[in-house]
Amino acid sequence: MKDILKCIIGFKRSKISLITLVASLIILFVGCSAVPQVDKPLTNNTAMVSGQLKVHYIDVGQGDSILIQQGSENMLIDTGTNSSAKSLINYLEAQNIKKIDVLVLTHPHEDHIGGADVVIKEFDIGAIYMPKITSTTETFKDVISAISSKGLKIISPKPGDIIKLGDAVSTILGPISSNDKDLNTYSIVLKLAFGNNKFLFTGDAEASTEKDMINKGYDLSADILKVGHHGSDTSTSQGFLDKVNPKYAIISVGKENNYGHPHLLTMDKLKIKNIPVYRTDEKGTILVTSDGNNITFNSKVESSTQTPVPQTEENVNVSASVDNPTPIQNSTINLSVGGPAGASVTAVCHFKSTNTTYNGRVGTPIAIKVGKASHGVTVNIDIVVSINGKVYNTQTSFTTK
Ligand SMILES: [Zn+2]
Repeated sequence: MKDILKCIIGFKRSKISLITLVASLIILFVGCSAVPQVDKPLTNNTAMVSGQLKVHYIDVGQGDSILIQQGSENMLIDTGTNSSAKSLINYLEAQNIKKIDVLVLTHPHEDHIGGADVVIKEFDIGAIYMPKITSTTETFKDVISAISSKGLKIISPKPGDIIKLGDAVSTILGPISSNDKDLNTYSIVLKLAFGNNKFLFTGDAEASTEKDMINKGYDLSADILKVGHHGSDTSTSQGFLDKVNPKYAIISVGKENNYGHPHLLTMDKLKIKNIPVYRTDEKGTILVTSDGNNITFNSKVESSTQTPVPQTEENVNVSASVDNPTPIQNSTINLSVGGPAGASVTAVCHFKSTNTTYNGRVGTPIAIKVGKASHGVTVNIDIVVSINGKVYNTQTSFTTK
């Protein structure tokens, strides 16, 4: 840089002040590395990629942590919870990781940044990407102090920014707008391209971010979608899923979690589109390998990569759940019924002294009034789903707090 400056100064000594020159050089260099437009993400064809891309959707219980490896470089998106930190470190060490070149903490919730302080202490860290939002939790403070004790700087990425990892190129797509009351809306969303294969990582981005990205006209199509927010019904809007149109969906979720994740509505949307779903609560860590053209799953998953059997009238799965299985008196809960799209639903709630019947449709939550049932009373709900003259039965329940 100094040499370049001297050289140019030598030529134009008398005409341009040093300040103007430095300014124009800065503009030049920024111009050279200007980010491409997000609606035309970088395409790097297979000829340009070498080796393999490995994406590990690590089983961290109810949380997210994804290790991406290309060439000799490693990227980690989220770090699971505080309680999964030790097993995360063990997993990373078992992969012989010495340096995490790129650490992305999608948003400051504990199930995404819980292990970050330990990861930062244990490994060499290149760049750290976090959204422009702080939190008052101890977990967040631990992360910030780990970052500052290593003298690292946080980068807050904007849509269109590019992160390179070997021959893999990630484009930041979100957040576009965020809501202070909902940290999930700050989730960093990125789309990674390796040759012809594309991966979408969504953190806990909500339907509002999905809408923003659609409205911006971004190319959201991807082979593999990390389903937003552990499969909650606040993400994976139909319009978004149609735009992404993934070949496979991956849900990072804990066994028997308290949130009812993944939500039946989300599972239904994926099922209707015949998208195979791999869940960390069922498969443990899911390892996906790409050569730039073909995607393969680790052997644990391979046994179930066949396309799910499409629903026929002989093969109908009907299911039901409530969004709050332990509601307080006089509150309202939502009943979700999964099954053939558009089928009619009759739900009978068996309160202690009376039965109440609700009617609705599969795919639309039905609001149920909890009423004055006394503490600890379990209310069973019998559900009948009917379509084309056939009926199917299922059951769920809630217990008042
Ligand atoms: Zn989360």
